[in-house]
Amino acid sequence: MVMSSKKSLQSKGEEGKDSSNLTDAERLRVLAKSKLLDSASEEVYDRFTKLAAMLLNSPVSLVSLVDKDRQYFKSYYGLPEPWASQQQMPLSHSFCQYVVSSNQPLIVTDAREKAFLEHNLAIPDVGTIAYLGFPLVVENQALGSFCVIDTKPHAWSEREIGIVRELASFVTTEIALRIEIAEHQQVTERLQESEQNFRVLSETVPQLVWTMFPNGRRDYVNQRWCDYTGSTRERMQSDRWAHFQFIHPDDREGNRAFWQHALQTGEPFESEHRLRNGHTGTYRWFLARAMPVRNETGEIVKWFGTATDIDEQKRAEQQLKESEENWRVLAETMPQLVWSTGPDGVHEYTNQRWRDYTGLTPEQVQNNRWAHLQLIHPDDREGTRALWQHALDTGAMYEHEERLSNGQTGAYRWFLVRAMSIRDEAGQIVKWFGTCTDIDDQKRMQEALRESQERASVLMNSNIIGIFVEEGEQIVDANDTFLRMTGYTREDLRAGRINWRHMTPPEYLARTQQAHQELATQQSMTPYEKEYVCQDGSRLPVLVGGIVFQHHPLQAITFVLDNSARKELEQRKDDFISMASHELRGPLTALKLQTTLLRRQLAKQGTQASAPALSSMETQINKVTRLVEELLDVSKIQAGRLEYVQETVDLDALLREITETLQQSSPSHTLVVRGTGGTGLIGDRDRLGQVFTNLISNAIKYSPNAETVEMDLSASEDAVTVCVCDHGLGIPREQRDKIFERFYRVSGPNQKAIPGLGMGLYIVAEIVRHHGGSITVESEVGKGSTFQVTLPMKRV
Ligand code: ADP
Repeated sequence: MVMSSKKSLQSKGEEGKDSSNLTDAERLRVLAKSKLLDSASEEVYDRFTKLAAMLLNSPVSLVSLVDKDRQYFKSYYGLPEPWASQQQMPLSHSFCQYVVSSNQPLIVTDAREKAFLEHNLAIPDVGTIAYLGFPLVVENQALGSFCVIDTKPHAWSEREIGIVRELASFVTTEIALRIEIAEHQQVTERLQESEQNFRVLSETVPQLVWTMFPNGRRDYVNQRWCDYTGSTRERMQSDRWAHFQFIHPDDREGNRAFWQHALQTGEPFESEHRLRNGHTGTYRWFLARAMPVRNETGEIVKWFGTATDIDEQKRAEQQLKESEENWRVLAETMPQLVWSTGPDGVHEYTNQRWRDYTGLTPEQVQNNRWAHLQLIHPDDREGTRALWQHALDTGAMYEHEERLSNGQTGAYRWFLVRAMSIRDEAGQIVKWFGTCTDIDDQKRMQEALRESQERASVLMNSNIIGIFVEEGEQIVDANDTFLRMTGYTREDLRAGRINWRHMTPPEYLARTQQAHQELATQQSMTPYEKEYVCQDGSRLPVLVGGIVFQHHPLQAITFVLDNSARKELEQRKDDFISMASHELRGPLTALKLQTTLLRRQLAKQGTQASAPALSSMETQINKVTRLVEELLDVSKIQAGRLEYVQETVDLDALLREITETLQQSSPSHTLVVRGTGGTGLIGDRDRLGQVFTNLISNAIKYSPNAETVEMDLSASEDAVTVCVCDHGLGIPREQRDKIFERFYRVSGPNQKAIPGLGMGLYIVAEIVRHHGGSITVESEVGKGSTFQVTLPMKRV
């Protein structure tokens, strides 16, 4: 049995000469883990080698670890030099490699007889002849061999083999134990390292960090925690609720509830609360998080917690909330319809005004970006859709005038709709803000304005009426008609070369200034006749009226009608009157001469019977003569050719003479003269006689039912005043100024019945004006009139 076993062992050793598993990675890993290679000698292994050598009486015993290219001796006994000092040997000298490669004992009596060993260098260099080795197997890997060597042939006995096997197993146990210890040590080291890493990390992170046992005892707080709270590690470790004192009173309850929940359920803890800065006493917002750490059985062994300063974030959030709130308030108080949409154009918000006007609820427009189109007037829809699409595509500002229907009445009003995109930092559109401003009234006004402008322009461009705008004396704008009438050009207008004062002939200057006075005080000027000096120097008779249309600076619109046709007609009439009166004067003078001759002849013949007829003839001839004279006077006044003489006039005598004459011809009235006119009057006696004759004749004529006409004279140093007063028909107020105009007669049945041509007062006014005097009238209809003539004294 023994032999056979020996045989089998030997044969196994021989078969295992294949060295492929020497380089096996797993074997080498376990070998490295054992940390035996190149380690110092240790007594425990040395005891085994020594014991083996002694028990087997062998010269050499080794604990040999076979590396991939050498064998290293953790222990050696009896090894000759230089190998003992080197403590290792190349594989060329190794018998142990065969133990490892075969993972079997190797029992060799005489190596020289073994084919695979006979060339091994251990035979000549070490003197190895017999070899007995058992593999050192740890974690199923043969790491080396425990062996004894003899320098002569040695047939190993069963006892010897048993001893070496036992000792090899001891060595194996020792190695396995070492590995286990080494591994345990490594775990401990790693744990220490990780603990250290945690400390370093927790001290470097910008958070407050702590750890706590499940019983609430705080295990650790980082420096930052102590620095912030101003507390010490010891104090924090003493009490589970110690951190409570730093939490804002308002946040404590919430925090406690969170904690209790976390401790009960083992769920991670998260809470936002304010922590007091121990130094400044101010609070800052923190986000506190805690995670449980569990052992293999799932039991919580520790809580890890951090508190992150989120104060700025919180404040920003608060500000955002406030600004959002402000925006809402603003949007609700604005007089516009206000809305906002997402980047896709779907409504997110509408203000109350929007909802009130449209009658739509937010839900009705929150599903579709085109939902609001239903509000828009059909004619405006396409434009709106296209523009909104463009805005959404490009982010361009939306601005469009469109009609929106009122939800209640269905009526449309014009709105100016504007929308702007809001972008985030990355430039992405996040929102659209929009407003709808009611511009309906404005639109209507614009429309009215446009119409009125159109009308004004029609008026301006009509070729009937000349229109210009004046500012001061300057004509700043004019229509073509005015330019055509006056011969000026647009260029003249632009160059500021048209000036109404320059265009006014001297004789019209006073009247024109009066008209402008009226314009300034009454905001308009009553149309009056004048002439313009045209660009070529010719005169243009015009009728001019105007109205102020702007105050600062004062601008007036003046309307100018070409009056030349009427003036020409008037001229022809005047010419006719002048000619007719001249033509009539000749025959009349002859007639008068003949009647005078006739009267003389009849007187000579003593024929008295025809005297009354002749007198009556003379009276009529005188009447006609007076009429013709008046006509002539009017013509002369018109032509500016009425002639005057200058002489001292005894007004009292003149009036006496006149009243006497008139009293004779008008016995129906008593003419009363009161007062005196003084002596200093210079003028044309006949013409002044004409004035008073006229006034007294009118007084008699227009008071058919009265009995008296009174004349009151008064004189001062400067002037003499004559009042002619009657108790007749009177003159309506509105016609009082006009009675001094040529051919004007008061309209009214009573007046019409009294003959006259409306020339008298015209001539009177002209003569008085020529004398530097004035004439006014006071009158009451049905009661009578008083004409007052004032003439300056010593007029030279
Ligand atoms: P006439 O020849 O018509 O009298 P005048 O020029 O003298 O013309 O007067 C103009 C008009 O003034 C008259 O037609 C008349 O209506 C009115 N008138 C003039 N004097 C008086 C008066 N004393 N009382 C009332 N009306 C008068």
